[in-house]
Amino acid sequence: MERPTESKVAGLRDILDRANTAYYVDAQPLMADTEYDRLLAELADLERLFPEFADATSPTMRVGGKPIDGFAQVAHRVPMQSIDNTYDIDGFIAWCRRCEKAIGHPLALVADPKIDGVAVSLRYEQGRLAGAVTRGDGALGDDVTANVRAMRAIPLRLHSAKGASIAVPELLEVRGEIYMPNAEFERINAQRTVRGEPLLANARNATAGTLKSLDPSVAASRRLAFIAHGRGECSAQFNMTTHWEFLAALRGLGIPVNRLAKMCAGADEALAAIEAFAATRTALPFGVDGMVVRVNDFAEQEQLGTTGKSPRWIVAFKYPPERVQTILRKVEWQVGKGGTLTPRASMDPVVISGSTVAHATLHNFEEITRKDIRIGDHVFVEKAGEVIPQVIGPVLSKRNGSELPIEPPTLCPSCAGEVVQEGPKFFCANAMCPRQFRERLKWFVGRDQMNIDGLGERLIDQLVDAKIVTQFADLFCLPRDAMANLESETVLKTGRTILRRLGEKTVDAIMQSAQHARTRGLARVLAGLGIRHLGSTASKTLARSFADMQSLMAATPAELEALPDFGALTAASIAHDLATPALRETIAKLEAAGVEMTSRDYQSPASRHKFDAAVADDPLRSKTVVITGTFDKFERRALTELLEQRGCKVTGSVSAKTDIVIAGEDAGSKLQRAHELAVTVWNEEKLRSVLGDSPVL
Ligand SMILES: [Zn+2]
Repeated sequence: MERPTESKVAGLRDILDRANTAYYVDAQPLMADTEYDRLLAELADLERLFPEFADATSPTMRVGGKPIDGFAQVAHRVPMQSIDNTYDIDGFIAWCRRCEKAIGHPLALVADPKIDGVAVSLRYEQGRLAGAVTRGDGALGDDVTANVRAMRAIPLRLHSAKGASIAVPELLEVRGEIYMPNAEFERINAQRTVRGEPLLANARNATAGTLKSLDPSVAASRRLAFIAHGRGECSAQFNMTTHWEFLAALRGLGIPVNRLAKMCAGADEALAAIEAFAATRTALPFGVDGMVVRVNDFAEQEQLGTTGKSPRWIVAFKYPPERVQTILRKVEWQVGKGGTLTPRASMDPVVISGSTVAHATLHNFEEITRKDIRIGDHVFVEKAGEVIPQVIGPVLSKRNGSELPIEPPTLCPSCAGEVVQEGPKFFCANAMCPRQFRERLKWFVGRDQMNIDGLGERLIDQLVDAKIVTQFADLFCLPRDAMANLESETVLKTGRTILRRLGEKTVDAIMQSAQHARTRGLARVLAGLGIRHLGSTASKTLARSFADMQSLMAATPAELEALPDFGALTAASIAHDLATPALRETIAKLEAAGVEMTSRDYQSPASRHKFDAAVADDPLRSKTVVITGTFDKFERRALTELLEQRGCKVTGSVSAKTDIVIAGEDAGSKLQRAHELAVTVWNEEKLRSVLGDSPVL
């Protein structure tokens, strides 16, 4: 290739930068994605052949960053405070009145949709992206520069746009939100479905996960978006007097801002904006959970000051979760790993919070009867910031008499085996149930159990269908030839999927991971077996108390019952299951396949005494707990299970009987209620200090 001129390289970079600005700032794409990719590849070729043109802000630098070791903590030079929430019109009006009273006249306000993403602070020095830090606790955040650099939505260099009067400042810190648009969320999940990988739970968590990935190529492969909405440290020359001017200046520099932001002449106009937006928000291509309203004038902002926790000049109005109506067509019973049969509703597809929903959970049969939900009913469906949509109840006024009651399951839908009922739950009682085995196998190889990489749902299904795996132990002696005949679906860049034989490398990696998984120790094996009442916490308790599988199997129910948090029923159930010939055989075969059955957590009785004392002091013991909001390290459902294992009663609403409210990010009315009732509130940090650091995702 001929040596290009400097202007040729600069020209390519410029057009790629402009394409990004057009896409992310102006929402008017300049070129097709394929054309962008072609130009990017051309530039990358030039830079590779002629390294003298290397530049850290070149658009090519977004792809293929090297994996990083971890995230350094960085102090925010200007604290990144959180915003106070209000949940009703009265609260909002009260905020407006307080501000007006403090300033002495009606105020100009700016209202903009509150995008459900992850807050970051971007630092530009001499117009070049110098760093990106998450909010963290507001004072200290994680340095996520490597991942943020990989995102096309974020300019690596600031440009003074044509016609814009603003010059690129020496120093500019902008605060904003990185988020995953709905279409991207759905695209990734469609891809993961095909690959048999677990689905992303929700767009916000997926965004956080992308930012915290140690491999920047993950961020490069996901089309995250960014909008700026605030400022940190800025050079004196960047001296706007209002937020509205500040937004215009950012836009002039090529930084995306919220195009739906609205100037409001006072409280009434802001209220009208909030009300108008309520009707249209769900049609937006990204998740919005509220409206942020702030005082426009910077001097007035300063005058209002902050409360230490959050600024007084800004408030977030949170909308109630969206509720839609559709028709319930069918209820299927899904078989879980423990044989649990869970009702899943199939409904006429309906758009809710920006995505199309055709299925929802009905929780359990007791709920169905209590709410009198019938097939053919018009039902309310809600997706309350959470992942899985749920059927709230029937629209009784729309009944016409043709609705049919939902029958409890009489046979297992997978194996036609006997169904038994325990409390509100139904189970398939057939230990050989093929669906149960598949689910148990998926559980067994899962990250918190044996952690065998590369075995997605699709491969497990094939392994079971081809009878390569008929019991857990088979995973540790996978036949190489037969493995090579399995197929994985590969998603092409065009979005088309094709079937491919597993490559030798993939087979090797899976086998190696399985080899490695043999040495995870007793607690993980126990947790992986999928024995009822024996989750990871109870498994750890057993592993602390018994040196190996043999001594555990020799234990009497009374000995188990004496363990911390083992009630009589739990102990009896576990002892019973451990004694069944089928499970004993499973364990014997695992041992024969080289799986270690010794405990890594064993504590001699003397040292255990201390542990028991610690458990007696457990601040969670016998507490009634309510969980609200979202958490970094905890997935809600898993957290609920974990707390129940610790002896908590987890309930849905805050009352005088509640001992602790565990409030994550964006905790809503439940947190407010907790404050009203003076109930103890824990944040995630406190929760982690009590539970230890093991994440529950
Ligand atoms: Zn079954």
